[in-house]
Amino acid sequence: MEFESVIGLEVHAQLKTRTKIFCNCSTAFGAPPNTHTCPVCLGMPGVLPVLNKKVVEYAIRMAIATNCTIARESRFARKNYFYPDLPKGYQISQYELPIAEFGYIDIEQNGNKKRIGITRIHIEEDAGKLTHDPNRPVSMVDFNRTGVPLIEIVSEPDIRSPEEAGAYLRHLHSVVRYLDICDGNMEEGSFRCDANVSVMLKGSETFGTRAELKNLNSFKHVEKAIYFETERQKDIVLDGGEVIQETRLWDPAKSVTTSIRTKEDAHDYRYFPDPDLLPLVVDDDWVDRVKATLPELPDARMKRFVREFSLPPYDAGVLTSSREIADYFEDCLKVFPEPKQVSNWVMGSLLGLLNAEGKSIEDSPIPAHDLGALLKLMDEDVINGRMAKTVFEKMAQTGKTPKTIIKEDGLVQVTDASAIEAIVSEVLARSPKEIEDYKNGKTRVIGFFVGQVMKATKGKANPKIVNEILKDKLSC
Ligand code: ADP
Ligand code: MG
Ligand code: ZN
Repeated sequence: MEFESVIGLEVHAQLKTRTKIFCNCSTAFGAPPNTHTCPVCLGMPGVLPVLNKKVVEYAIRMAIATNCTIARESRFARKNYFYPDLPKGYQISQYELPIAEFGYIDIEQNGNKKRIGITRIHIEEDAGKLTHDPNRPVSMVDFNRTGVPLIEIVSEPDIRSPEEAGAYLRHLHSVVRYLDICDGNMEEGSFRCDANVSVMLKGSETFGTRAELKNLNSFKHVEKAIYFETERQKDIVLDGGEVIQETRLWDPAKSVTTSIRTKEDAHDYRYFPDPDLLPLVVDDDWVDRVKATLPELPDARMKRFVREFSLPPYDAGVLTSSREIADYFEDCLKVFPEPKQVSNWVMGSLLGLLNAEGKSIEDSPIPAHDLGALLKLMDEDVINGRMAKTVFEKMAQTGKTPKTIIKEDGLVQVTDASAIEAIVSEVLARSPKEIEDYKNGKTRVIGFFVGQVMKATKGKANPKIVNEILKDKLSC
């Protein structure tokens, strides 16, 4: 029996507003507990919420970027439940009438395009944060996060594998970052994802019962958790059992999911329209004004990179995966306008280095104009490719400019033909056997000669000139 997994993701993105959604407390992360609070976000009796306009603007930005239909009138609702991190006893969210619906994004994986439907985007407030002290029988609550604005982006159950889920999530992440509406920090929880997972026989039209997975705080964990859960459900079905609808917690240390509660249904929350908030009206004019401020989005930027710079789509995809990488690449081009060469160095050397050190491009030890300058020096034959690699590594370690490193280390390439010729003659003089081999048709010994010359010059000879002189001498 062949199975297929069916996956729908619910993504919560914390919006980068200065103040909370219904009061003017700060949203800044990391302040001492309970210092960013007021009667409104503490849920005191008699207070009234006032909607932050920026929150709506950011939700509209996301709705446009994900091809949603924006509701001209949406509503806030109360989702009622008790938990110690929710002082009002209800969360203000949107239910029957969300701000946006019926969108999609296109993802690409190994050259295959796929459209993933977005069911809805709604606006809601975050809850507080509980910490459980392992050494004392107490739990602590911090209300700094209550009332921080969120948008929830709910996908259709269109996703069919852990890798597809990863691709969808990375794409959404890149969109919120391009839009500058969310800082995307998964560890601090400003970009969080719950995954709904079920299995069915391949080709079936009827979905199985889903489990909702929580605590997925990195792209890798989302994929691993979905993979584990799919296998778990398959085993249940193969054993003749039945999957039950429940909420499960991913344990990153053990790489398993465990049940935390059977799944509640929407009616359990007794949703009803919040009588303290007016319907939210968004007119065409407002949407048009927001549209006019949208930056170039990842898909459009990728297409432009292919068109304008003649880059392979793969390169363009990697380079536009984040706004910062794309900006870095374009900044390098300002100094050295050779797109494919710059792309090779950014994707290969730079991203490789950053990955190895777990850094993102904003923390690159090498600024874009310095990388451009390095490639320019190589292009002008001041240094050769091998030296460029050495200089690159030193730049990464010291943060110095390529010119400084070249000067300090005396790394200037030898391009003086007569100097190179003398060394070539020396090498040939002590290699009669290899010359013999060469004359007998083993032309690949040329590599041996080049290697010897490079060794004698400590890698500083211009390889092009070395090759020319060698061929010249060997042909007589
Ligand atoms: P809830 O609030 O109960 O989690 P939502 O409507 O907010 O419900 O989200 C449901 C999510 O579950 C959506 O992303 C949807 O695509 C997904 N989903 C629904 N049915 C299935 C299923 N059988 N298998 C996997 N995912 C599903
Ligand atoms: Mg939900
Ligand atoms: Zn407040």
